[in-house]
Amino acid sequence: MKVVLFDIDGTLLRTDGAGRRAVNQAIHEVYGTHPAGGHEFDGKTDPQIVRELMQLAGVHDESITERLAETLTRYSILLRDELDGVDHSRNVYPGIGALLDALEARDDVLLGLLTGNIHAGAVAKLDAVGLGTDRFKIGAFGSDHASRAELPAIARARAEALLGHAVAGADVIVIGDTPADMGCGRGIGARAIGVATGRYTVDDLTACEPHAVFPDLSDTAAVMRAIFAE
Ligand SMILES: [Mg+2]
Repeated sequence: MKVVLFDIDGTLLRTDGAGRRAVNQAIHEVYGTHPAGGHEFDGKTDPQIVRELMQLAGVHDESITERLAETLTRYSILLRDELDGVDHSRNVYPGIGALLDALEARDDVLLGLLTGNIHAGAVAKLDAVGLGTDRFKIGAFGSDHASRAELPAIARARAEALLGHAVAGADVIVIGDTPADMGCGRGIGARAIGVATGRYTVDDLTACEPHAVFPDLSDTAAVMRAIFAE
């Protein structure tokens, strides 16, 4: 049994800046400040992004912690509005539908998500592009932990609870578009597969020494071989 965990932004889909606009607006409403532009979001969790932006704005950690949950709740509402204003017709990356269908058709795969998005944000983004969340049987989210490195163990524990048996780290496959995705599963011995549809190139991701790297996920057979390779 393989547990195949997909990152969302840069891996399955893009949102044309809807996420960034929503988080900036939520921060403005809750903390009364406009976050600095140009801050890197890729590979980070939503609570981590809010905390870093507020730290850059000079807000004390204690004040950030106090209003973090409120900010993320406001963000999830604003995100749905922002996503409504985006044309999603080209926002799912090439081959994603076919790959998910191929994985879903197998009885030796548990399909899941491993993403820095809070759960509500993940659902909003997947719904917006028409991928939906039903096919993803488990997930670990930014709302579970602010550190991505903690998420693979959470996802594996949920997989084990659902399956009723232990899952070896090597049978967990993390598919993502950033160095953070490539590194986060090391603690449990998971296998990482990189895809260069986000900000990072094939070379950038190869430098992280994942199991495999693809320019995009359109070669379903090759990606399936990488997932099931012994
Ligand atoms: Mg990503």
